[in-house]
Amino acid sequence: MSELSKCFYEVTAGRTCRDLCHPEYASCWISFVESVRRLVPGSYKLFMPLLVIPPLLKGGGYSWQYWWDELKSYNDLSFKTYAIGIVGLTLQCVFYKLFGKLHFFWVMAMPGFFSAAFVGLRLSKAHLRLQGITYFNMMLQVVLTKSKLRLVEVLRESKLCGTLLFMIFNARIMDLLQNGNIKHFWMMYPTKIKDAQENSVDTSKILGLITPCDRKVCSHEKSCDAFILDGILKYALTGFIIDYVRAIFSMIPLLYKDSSRFLPAVWRRFSFDLMLFLATYIGSYRLLCCVLSRHSGKESPLNNKIASFLCGMSYMIYPRYQVFTIAFTKFVEMSWQHFFKTTHDLPWWVLKLDQIPYLRIVHMFAVGYMYHTLVFHAHLSPPFNSKAINFCSDNRVERLKRRLLSWMLEHEWNKA
Ligand SMILES: [Zn+2]
Ligand SMILES: [Zn+2]
Repeated sequence: MSELSKCFYEVTAGRTCRDLCHPEYASCWISFVESVRRLVPGSYKLFMPLLVIPPLLKGGGYSWQYWWDELKSYNDLSFKTYAIGIVGLTLQCVFYKLFGKLHFFWVMAMPGFFSAAFVGLRLSKAHLRLQGITYFNMMLQVVLTKSKLRLVEVLRESKLCGTLLFMIFNARIMDLLQNGNIKHFWMMYPTKIKDAQENSVDTSKILGLITPCDRKVCSHEKSCDAFILDGILKYALTGFIIDYVRAIFSMIPLLYKDSSRFLPAVWRRFSFDLMLFLATYIGSYRLLCCVLSRHSGKESPLNNKIASFLCGMSYMIYPRYQVFTIAFTKFVEMSWQHFFKTTHDLPWWVLKLDQIPYLRIVHMFAVGYMYHTLVFHAHLSPPFNSKAINFCSDNRVERLKRRLLSWMLEHEWNKA
């Protein structure tokens, strides 16, 4: 079967925006009014986890102000995403009228690009970051899956290569975090280096085996065993909650259809991989840090580098594109910021480069690219992309995709 991209113009010849985008509404104006009316719940539903998970993780100390700020931020993000949806769908009609025919890149990619460009101007920095980086990471995932470059192919097929790169990214991120001049969110944080307590005595063993130093050399308060175990338990629990919440959210439709199948389905969807990955990741990092500190008699940046490099091996347990792309983006972003902060006498072109609003550009391109991917390369689209666009378009994009597909089948059938 020929790809949709190849026969798009033959298939859509003589068809209008109404035929493709809104056959259920007689005119573009009615389509616009209906999208304003019907799209409201979508984005509020999509961002519901943002309203639920942060307070759950916070675990206490809620004030009225906290809840008010949370609600305001949730409403702000949902409302503007709703606006992106309306602008995107409306632009499909506008571009059709402008060109007088349906155009391959102006059905999904350009409406996505321009809707993100218009509404992105009104998004707060934090929300622009959240959307921009999420979409950029998904875009990277698609590019990695699609690329025919030999180097990328090797990377895609070799778990070893992926793991080695993740180890390098992780070591660099942890090193920059310990450096202290860049603050970023990351899966874990290095300990602040303190001088060894000369007069202290510590004869405890790690895992009942390792006692190379008799002074207390680690900066953490508890014993090394307790420190390591504490990390493992907290991260395993976090992995468990994330995966369980994800399984519950993905199975909610079943709750309406057949509630007796709900819990077994959630259990089947649930996997221990994330839990195991997070626990191994922090456990091995802390264990290595403690052993290295005891061995060298002090905590040092080198210990942190070695430990974070080696603990990156736990990626083998959970070799997902999401984890890889997040690490890659952080690695690039933090390295750039570090270079910018620590280098004196920067050349003029670097200063100019830093003034470019990367985040806004990335946001526009990535949204357009992912809109396009959902319809024209659907098998490559990550599940979150389909969910986000379909929630925020009241499934109109899904119906558009099916319509195009049925036209293509019809076209193939007539040709045969
Ligand atoms: Zn129209
Ligand atoms: Zn220790």
